Amino acid sequence: AKRRAHGSYQLFEPQMAEEVNRLLQLESDIRTSYQEHHFTFYLQPLIDLHARSLVGAEALIRWEHPLRGLVQPGEFIGFLENSDMINPVGLQLLDDVCQFIRMHKEQGRFPPELRIAVNISERQLYDADFVGKCQSVLRKYKLPGSCLEFEITEGAALHNLDEVVDKMRKLQNEGITFALDDFGTGYSSLSYLKRLPVNKVKIDKSFIDDITIDPQDAAMVASIIAIARNMNLLIVAEGVETDAQAQWLSQYEGILIQGYLFDKPLTAQTFAQNYLPEPAV
Ligand code: C2E
Ligand code: CA
Ligand code: CA
Ligand code: CA
Repeated sequence: AKRRAHGSYQLFEPQMAEEVNRLLQLESDIRTSYQEHHFTFYLQPLIDLHARSLVGAEALIRWEHPLRGLVQPGEFIGFLENSDMINPVGLQLLDDVCQFIRMHKEQGRFPPELRIAVNISERQLYDADFVGKCQSVLRKYKLPGSCLEFEITEGAALHNLDEVVDKMRKLQNEGITFALDDFGTGYSSLSYLKRLPVNKVKIDKSFIDDITIDPQDAAMVASIIAIARNMNLLIVAEGVETDAQAQWLSQYEGILIQGYLFDKPLTAQTFAQNYLPEPAV
């Protein structure tokens, strides 16, 4: 704000008005797109590095905007997460993922050991009926929780740890597993790792990027792997792009990788074509 005479402030610069307009437009766009079901998901395979086999996939939200085309989450997920719309949109996405699983199960194309991971944001976990809503979706498609994994970040537990842990346990009783996403990027990763009942850690891409050239990053990843191992957690390296990174990671047993080196996020249809078994005849 510009300082004016007599200590008054001019609060709204033209750029601010533009920004406010942009956000209002985005909000109304999101509401319409939710109603018209323009949000969809891509699937990125999760691979066992040693066996080179598929162990799962992560569902990543995409916005099929009627005018703008395919919009990546970087452009809207922050806004969604800071509004109440993340709850209905997140639930719609979970429903879509379960519908996808149901359809392929019926065709005999969904291996029972496969899990689809869904990102769950903080605000969804604070919904008092989050557990009930997840249970309803599972019942609706007659699915066991064991076909799902929820990815959460440590931010999710910042405000009410006991409540979040309680919900996680209830969902784990349904068979859903949990992964701690973007591990290492937060302020208190280790304390959350200790307190949250997660089954898996996903080492953030920013640690993997320079793993083969920066000894400090390598040491960090080695330590994270050692800790996760000692806690009996599964370990995913996110954002693996090069053979050299995969080579470095392969010195450890049982590492799972997700990244462009293996495959990028694919439409659900392409994922099914390329990775799921042929329809049973
Ligand atoms: P994330 O959960 O950490 O997801 C991984 C992101 O890394 C994805 O970006 C994926 O496309 C990208 N990625 C995977 N492998 C590579 C690689 O080798 N190189 C590079 N450069 N990138 C790679 P995407 O799909 O744009 O999603 C961005 C973020 O948006 C996600 O980060 C997640 O935090 C959020 N997000 C995505 N879908 C959902 C959702 O359904 N719900 C919520 N709450 N958040 C979501
Ligand atoms: Ca994720
Ligand atoms: Ca991540
Ligand atoms: Ca993230």
